[in-house]
Amino acid sequence: MDGNAEQLPAWVTWRRRPFPDANLLLLHGRQPALVDSGFVGHAQDTVAWARAHAGNVALVVNTHWHSDHVGGNTLLQAMGAGIAASTPDAQAVTRRHPGCCLAEYLDQPVSPYTVDEPLHDRQILRLGDADWEVVHTPGHTPGHLALWQPEERLLVVGDALSDYDVGWVNLALDGPDASLAALTSLHRMADLKARVLLPAHGPVPADPSAAFAAATRRAQRLVDDPAGAVWYGARRIFAFALMIRGGISTTEVEPYLHARAWLRDAAQLLGNTPETLAAELVDTMLRSGAIVLRDGQLHATAEHTPVAAESLRVPFPRAWPAAVARSGTRRWTCPTQPAP
Ligand SMILES: [Zn+2]
Repeated sequence: MDGNAEQLPAWVTWRRRPFPDANLLLLHGRQPALVDSGFVGHAQDTVAWARAHAGNVALVVNTHWHSDHVGGNTLLQAMGAGIAASTPDAQAVTRRHPGCCLAEYLDQPVSPYTVDEPLHDRQILRLGDADWEVVHTPGHTPGHLALWQPEERLLVVGDALSDYDVGWVNLALDGPDASLAALTSLHRMADLKARVLLPAHGPVPADPSAAFAAATRRAQRLVDDPAGAVWYGARRIFAFALMIRGGISTTEVEPYLHARAWLRDAAQLLGNTPETLAAELVDTMLRSGAIVLRDGQLHATAEHTPVAAESLRVPFPRAWPAAVARSGTRRWTCPTQPAP
């Protein structure tokens, strides 16, 4: 435990995890729920931890569909858990849209799953024994959502912010207004005056209002400096690639980067060639210390858990088997309430 995680009620178990996994949040009660499920390479660990602390998980809620948040979905779903995700994410996952989870675009593997419960803004969800409100918070992704528990004033913020950062935005895919959407979402979340923030990465912030103030300043910089926002995203995506691959050799790194859709898009937005951007990305990250050269390989320096190479061999969504409805096996309930 760290930060002010000790302020959590007894029915909440929180686990901080280094990259490439999102933090885990278990909500105990008659309908045990897990918020986010880590990276595919650590799915067994995620499931073992959840089972040890909560028995069978009834429902998994994904704050968004990035690979570090949905990697345990397949295993948990096979064990009977329902998967809940925002409506836009649910629709794309159901259709096996090639862009879903950004798995192929970011070259981050995600194993196949289906979404059982599409969520909409202001929907009430029973997680554990408590009612949580879904708060649509676009920015980091268009479908990103936060979860709000008004009695305990807990706010699950996903990647919208952390104690030290604000989520990167994808101006190429989500348009030039993605940064403004992120900033607007931060204001909406800050207005809830949460007692405890539960981010998907890093510690529980000691002071929620200070965390929002810092994240808002950073989001404003993304709005004011679109090129900076593109660079910020590129650095995060490249560092993640190095983490899940255990490094990339210096001879392979530029061909690897040149072949990536995200890098080509970033280069176009910056008015650069992919070759120039790839070289500058490696150079600036080496100089900043974000990556390091060791034994002929580039490695990310941020703390991260190793990933077994074979666990990366899962098909991209375009090759996932068709989604099947599983209504006959459900063991979770979602209260029905009028749409907003
Ligand atoms: Zn994310």
